[in-house]
Amino acid sequence: MIIAMQAESTTEEIDNVCQRIRDFGYMPHVIRGEERTVIAAIGHGDKKEHIEQLKSLNGVENAFPILQPFKLVSREVKKQKSEIRVGDIKIGDGGFVVMAGPCSVEGREQIMATAEAVAESGARILRGGAYKPRTSPYDFQGLAEEGLKLLAEARERTGLKIITEVLDTEDVEIVREYADILQVGARNMQNFALLKRLGEVNKPIMLKRGLSATIKEFLLSAEYIVTHGNHEVILCERGIRTFETATRNTLDLAAVPLLNELTHLPVIVDPSHGTGKRSLVRPLARAAVAVGGDGLMTEVHPCPEEAWSDGPQSLRPDEFALLMKEIEPYVNLRQGFVS
Ligand code: PEP
Ligand code: MN
Repeated sequence: MIIAMQAESTTEEIDNVCQRIRDFGYMPHVIRGEERTVIAAIGHGDKKEHIEQLKSLNGVENAFPILQPFKLVSREVKKQKSEIRVGDIKIGDGGFVVMAGPCSVEGREQIMATAEAVAESGARILRGGAYKPRTSPYDFQGLAEEGLKLLAEARERTGLKIITEVLDTEDVEIVREYADILQVGARNMQNFALLKRLGEVNKPIMLKRGLSATIKEFLLSAEYIVTHGNHEVILCERGIRTFETATRNTLDLAAVPLLNELTHLPVIVDPSHGTGKRSLVRPLARAAVAVGGDGLMTEVHPCPEEAWSDGPQSLRPDEFALLMKEIEPYVNLRQGFVS
């Protein structure tokens, strides 16, 4: 349930409400907004008598049940959009943040050339996989720590922040050491052990939508990370499996405004994995801005023909530069209607 405190409620009153919530067998989560504090009481079933009793406590304005199955990530609990800070970059503040880079970190020359090119064109965050979730065990699996070191070197050189995937609970610590944002790949969206472990991490997590995940499942996975203590979650729509085989996945653009209705978490769009086709990336990047995405993740490679993974969907640096120019008017136009 949600307990909305009066604007002038005191710390003692908030503490008292939290204690009563614990006494009733729920877990309190205090969410301090700009105007007022809201307390989410999470547990099994919101009993009517508990709601009535909480309503009568000093400092409480109102108490009501949370209707959605996901609680802490829902808009019911927090009306204001969450802003995730990564150094001086804000994701979810109404602006549009671009993350770009190769599918996999392949070596120094490749990652430095890509980092410099995407930084030059206006990307703020460098992507690149050091631990790769490959469909075939015979495919390149990533450079592991060597890849993380190269990403860190590219950050030093360009000032870009780094996002990279963590595949396994065992690697969380090492990836956390190097990365600015930890990425959970589509195949791991329901790896609950990993999600719980990432709830204990003090860095932002970008959670990609599972290949066949519904919006509800997606948000419940985000809820796992948040209930375990990490509120810094970014969602990423990266396409889902449908009957259509002309594209690698079907990029669900309706998910973006829908997620914006249902959750306060920022939403990023990945048209690279969403389509699997280089020629479709720029049009869908423009669409991502128009539907209210908070940013973009796109694959860029200095020479896609030679990429060790996902070459067909990777943009060349000049195409990426064009993408950045093309989205600019959309970013400027939409100021004022993004919720
Ligand atoms: C990736 O971004 O490198 C990736 C593997 O994407 P996804 O998990 O969406 O397939
Ligand atoms: Mn890829």
